Amino acid sequence: MLVMKFGGTSMEDANAIDRAAKIVRSRLPQRPVIVVSAMAKVTDQLLATARAAGAGDRDGALKLSRTLRERHYNVAGELLGTGLFTQFHGELESDFDALDELLRGIAAVGELTPRTADLVAANGELLSSKIAAAAFSARGLDSSLVDSREYIITDDTHGRALPFLEETNDKLKSTLQPLLDRGRVPVMGGFIGSTRSGTTTTIGRGGSDFSAAIVGAGLGAESIEIWTDVDGMMTTDPNLCPDAHRIKVISFDEAAELAYFGAKVLHPATLLPAIQKNIPVYILNSRHPEGEGTKITTRAPRCRNLFKAIAVKKRITIVDVAATRMLMVHGYLKSIFEAFDRHRVPVDVVSTSEVSVSLTVDSNEAIPALAADLSRLADVKYEGRKAIVCLVGENLRETPGVAARIFGVIPDLNIRMISQGASEINLTFVIEEDQAPDVVKRLHQAFFSEVDPEVFD
Ligand code: ASP
Ligand code: MG
Repeated sequence: MLVMKFGGTSMEDANAIDRAAKIVRSRLPQRPVIVVSAMAKVTDQLLATARAAGAGDRDGALKLSRTLRERHYNVAGELLGTGLFTQFHGELESDFDALDELLRGIAAVGELTPRTADLVAANGELLSSKIAAAAFSARGLDSSLVDSREYIITDDTHGRALPFLEETNDKLKSTLQPLLDRGRVPVMGGFIGSTRSGTTTTIGRGGSDFSAAIVGAGLGAESIEIWTDVDGMMTTDPNLCPDAHRIKVISFDEAAELAYFGAKVLHPATLLPAIQKNIPVYILNSRHPEGEGTKITTRAPRCRNLFKAIAVKKRITIVDVAATRMLMVHGYLKSIFEAFDRHRVPVDVVSTSEVSVSLTVDSNEAIPALAADLSRLADVKYEGRKAIVCLVGENLRETPGVAARIFGVIPDLNIRMISQGASEINLTFVIEEDQAPDVVKRLHQAFFSEVDPEVFD
């Protein structure tokens, strides 16, 4: 069997859901299970609605909810036509009435707990799966709406709940497998689950990919398809380099290195349940379903190019911490990282010498306070407007002279930091932000003007 996950942009309106139905039809012989996201932006809007209610703004919350109601009614109406919609309308109506009731309750209490926020946020996927299942049936697909909360069993860390995989797998096998055996197409919402005692949970923003991986791993899928709005992963940002190539196949580790930069596509960590079971994951474009997309596999095939991709991240600040006290003292790095932890600032690239440490962080407001805190330990300087450039590829592991080849392309450049991880599948360096476009173009030209046709398009 096959898991097909349709993301928010692949569910955004009636046309998108209609396209999804056609794509599903083309896969019927492979016995698909369908996992859907909420319609684009709906989760954000639901959470904004919940926050408005939590702040006591009852009318504001109900107004936002009305906008969502209208959008879902319109999409369902367009997909189902007047006759079918008249029957279906009542179902959506009671869902939205229940949501409004909940919002009134939150506003009355004037407090939004994580548990209640999940209850509101879950509506996005509950509604989109309901509409998709109805639309698929109306198009002659034998679909069955499945309530994910009965199958994806999680702990009670609301907002980021962790699934209990064994229990979840048992439930998936005992209920979805019989549906598949009867030739049905199960349609379920991603992102949502419930605790053992039946309280609704969500498994983290962007969690529908995770849901798809859990379902695929639980049912032993042949593959998992992530349907989105891009043609796959690219050798670099095509806005910077119009001659960027599509990557046909990439390893999970490589994709994970790139995730931090291209997080728009997906967060591969969420694919782990599938990758651990050796199930390939495809990134596909629901607007160009005939494309081959990008295949993410446990192990990368041989590739003649040194790298798979060049990624850039802008809006980076370098924090420099220097103290002669650090000389030969242990526990010093710990105290530095503790300061980052206290200010909840995540660190990306680190390089150290005997007396100083340089770290990069996303440029944000917390930095001045963090620097003030750090200055109790050492001399601190920070400088914004930097960019991280990262070259990724499994071939880095075995190839000598990689750094010379990279920096040979950009000998005129002032490199602020360099880091090559022990996993040795990426080489990362930090430069001035305004130089990033030119650097990426030159590197891309140097390393991708000829590509291995097995791996790149
Ligand atoms: N709808 C959820 C979100 O926006 C989950 C997902 O789409 O993956 O985070
Ligand atoms: Mg997503």
